[in-house]
Amino acid sequence: MDIECDVLIVGTGIAGLYSALNLRDDLNIALISKGDITKTNTYLAQGGIATAKDEHDKPSFIEDTLRAGNYKNDLTAVRVLVDESIENIKKLIELGVDFDKSKDNLLYTREGAHSTNRIVHHKDYTGKEVADSLIEKVLKRKNIKIYKNFYLCDLITQNNRCLGGIFIKESKQLNIFSKFTILATGGIGGLFKNSTNQRILTGDGLSIAVKNNIKLKDIQYIQFHPTAFYESTNERRFLISESVRGEGAHLLNSKGERFVDELLPRDEVSSKIYSEMKKTNSSNVYLSLSHLNSSYIKQRFPKIYSECLKRGIDITKDSIPVAPAQHYFMGGIEVDLYSKTSMENLFAAGEVSCSGVHGENRLASNSLLEGLVFSRRAADYINNLSDKTPLKKVSPKIITDFEMVKRENLKIAIDLIKEKRWDLKDELISY
Ligand SMILES: Cc1cc2nc3c(=O)[nH]c(=O)nc-3n(C[C@H](O)[C@H](O)[C@H](O)COP(=O)(O)OP(=O)(O)OC[C@H]3O[C@@H](n4cnc5c(N)ncnc54)[C@H](O)[C@@H]3O)c2cc1C
Repeated sequence: MDIECDVLIVGTGIAGLYSALNLRDDLNIALISKGDITKTNTYLAQGGIATAKDEHDKPSFIEDTLRAGNYKNDLTAVRVLVDESIENIKKLIELGVDFDKSKDNLLYTREGAHSTNRIVHHKDYTGKEVADSLIEKVLKRKNIKIYKNFYLCDLITQNNRCLGGIFIKESKQLNIFSKFTILATGGIGGLFKNSTNQRILTGDGLSIAVKNNIKLKDIQYIQFHPTAFYESTNERRFLISESVRGEGAHLLNSKGERFVDELLPRDEVSSKIYSEMKKTNSSNVYLSLSHLNSSYIKQRFPKIYSECLKRGIDITKDSIPVAPAQHYFMGGIEVDLYSKTSMENLFAAGEVSCSGVHGENRLASNSLLEGLVFSRRAADYINNLSDKTPLKKVSPKIITDFEMVKRENLKIAIDLIKEKRWDLKDELISY
């Protein structure tokens, strides 16, 4: 069965949903998710979205982003990110997102390596609030059709031009032809044994890019979050948001001593935790909030409070066992400032893409912001071009062994990470 549309968007996280809502409403859009529409990293985001508070805050936001990224960032992309932050947060509010406020003013929280409080949030489940609001709007748009449980396994291409995607749905092949395609397939956490990410996110966008000779960038830059709840399980590791440290929590070693400035960039805190774990021969360190006001903790971090309680830890009294876990992928499919990839009519936005905005290490809460700013740029670009671009069809390849294609994609992504980061080989799942 073939489907035709103007714009094919693969991914229902912040980048996919927001690009769909920013596309013209006379364009036919196919919006795809691999699992359920809410099985995204976006849905899991806790801390919030970084934004310049006003014009005066912009230079310091730029500097914080560059410093966290060890100055390996693309400065022009960082400027765009910061310059367009305020208007995109306003647009999210117009779309119904309810950020925490005091009277009528947005409440800004702080996270590691930010020199000031500049993170808008909805308690400690910002991602769910954002996703639910955007999904509600998407469902009302007659020009957007959602396809769930569709697995993108390859692109349909001709002479380095993208003509759509090849999908597997319940052991059947489906081809979707489009004028433009936006890959918003998210990160790579599902390739790691220990990750805070949804397990289904296995770097499929990367494998597809490798298969089609699409340019990649900064594959070696993989972020480990310092404070994932420590437990021996094969499941996704529960994250203890950086905003918990931003609000004053202390990191303690097994002797109950502080050993690091909790608000350093993530890579530095993770590295200090690894050294401390080695020094004290322990599998984890602890995060303590017991010196903070307990009713404030419950009201500010309701999700973290209840999730830890389920695991036998009352965060108002007990220290939380934490250890680093894979969390975010700074590298990805190389894109320009309009999210264009090296393949014609193919865009990439969100975690699968690499505009160079994060450098070597992402500043806390800059990911959702990147998803907003650069997916909207892709949409604006497509809005201007769509009428001049014809839909083109060719006969796509026929997939005969679906399981083999899935295994092959997994192998391509894992081999790519191993090639760039041999030191992480034992952290990866096997295929
Ligand atoms: C626990 C946690 C907390 C976080 N907290 C924050 C935070 O507070 N602030 C912040 O800025 N960032 C945070 N992040 C990072 C941020 O949430 C993600 O980087 C961001 O949401 C990625 O959005 P996305 O749209 O690129 O992808 P996602 O939201 O991950 O969505 C990916 C989509 O791609 C689809 N997909 C993937 N492969 C295929 C395929 N082969 N076929 C079809 N569909 C496919 C999936 O079904 C899904 O719909 C957090 C991440 C985690 C894991």
